[in-house]
Amino acid sequence: MKILVINAGSSSLKYQLLHMEDETVMASGLVERIGDLTGKKIHKKFPDTDREIRVEKNGEVPDHRAAMRFVVEMIKDPEYGVISTVAEIGAIGHRAVHGGDWFKAPALVDDAVKEIIRKTIPLAPLHNPSGLIGVETAQELIPDVPNVVVFDTVFHQTMPEKAFLYAVPLNLYTELKVRRYGFHGTSHKYVADKAALLMGKKPKETNIITVHLGNGCSMAAVKKGECVDTSMGLTPLAGLMMGTRSGDVDPAVLAHIAEHRGMSMKEIDVLLNKESGLKGICGMNDMRDIHEKADQGDRLALLALDMFCYRIQKYLGAYAVVLGRLDAVAFTAGIGENDAVVRSMILSGLDCLGIELDKERNIGRSKEDRLISTDTSRVQAWVIPANEELQIARETAAVLNP
Ligand code: ADP
Repeated sequence: MKILVINAGSSSLKYQLLHMEDETVMASGLVERIGDLTGKKIHKKFPDTDREIRVEKNGEVPDHRAAMRFVVEMIKDPEYGVISTVAEIGAIGHRAVHGGDWFKAPALVDDAVKEIIRKTIPLAPLHNPSGLIGVETAQELIPDVPNVVVFDTVFHQTMPEKAFLYAVPLNLYTELKVRRYGFHGTSHKYVADKAALLMGKKPKETNIITVHLGNGCSMAAVKKGECVDTSMGLTPLAGLMMGTRSGDVDPAVLAHIAEHRGMSMKEIDVLLNKESGLKGICGMNDMRDIHEKADQGDRLALLALDMFCYRIQKYLGAYAVVLGRLDAVAFTAGIGENDAVVRSMILSGLDCLGIELDKERNIGRSKEDRLISTDTSRVQAWVIPANEELQIARETAAVLNP
């Protein structure tokens, strides 16, 4: 079966067409700056594993429908395409950010499912509308092919109440759905399952802490293959320090800022989401820029780096206790996969957790999954490149062929 994976963001749309027999990517692409006069459209075709044919077509992309039209045109294109008709597509898998607690599993789209996704919009006003638009434009342009929605929150739905409830009046949960949901679930599941496989075990036999460090950062405590706790919350603002997001702060900080700066809640929300995290401390949010400055001895860059790693260590300690027995820690996403300095700052000196980092393995560069702990380390440490598209495709296939 061939599966088209669509990841529609507010101003971008990424896609991959996968052949599920051998899980290879046939084509992929990206449309950026949707709604802009200077839209960017890139399509790639992979005739075999080590060859790619790339085409870039820039120009106005007025809306998501235009972006989806580009996807359909390119995958069928006589020169750059990989199929002759969209009827060859067995299913379309969509990424959606927030499934609330309505969705405990990926969902086959029908009118009822679309209605529930509409209900989730207040929980993720920036993200969920584009997910829904992705589904609706796919239904319109690629008719008669089933659509499946895979939510970022689903993997975390196994958290027990004691982990997902906030210690606020319970009616805020029962009436407003205020609780911890967690995000990056597709990534955490892919990495936890892969780490188990690499250790020669079944997910059910392993306890793993997954550490997703990209622009957004989150961790999950995965016990016997199921998430029991995660660092993000009602929204992706909670937990770790991120590029521009604060992560955890004392909630009383908000009222204090409102009173002393005369800021509205909306303005404070922007402050915590867009002006905080690494950027709030040193003015930069890209980890590569921070290293460049830190290498020159810049005090604030060094401080930001230190704070970033310290917060991750605190969560490692907490989740190791939550899990009781820890088998592995697995890093993924832009920083997790590429930044040996950050991994070393996090994992050095963690004898208390039984993690012994192998310095040589840690600095080795590769796009492959790799062990970075010593052979004698009681707890293994892994780097596992993220592959959310493959996970979405697998889950889409599983919905259709349970
Ligand atoms: P997203 O969460 O948007 O998918 P990514 O997973 O691509 O983001 O991660 C983006 C982050 O990864 C940025 O902070 C970027 O600086 C960082 N990053 C990418 N490459 C490297 C590298 N070689 N060294 C350190 N950080 C890197």
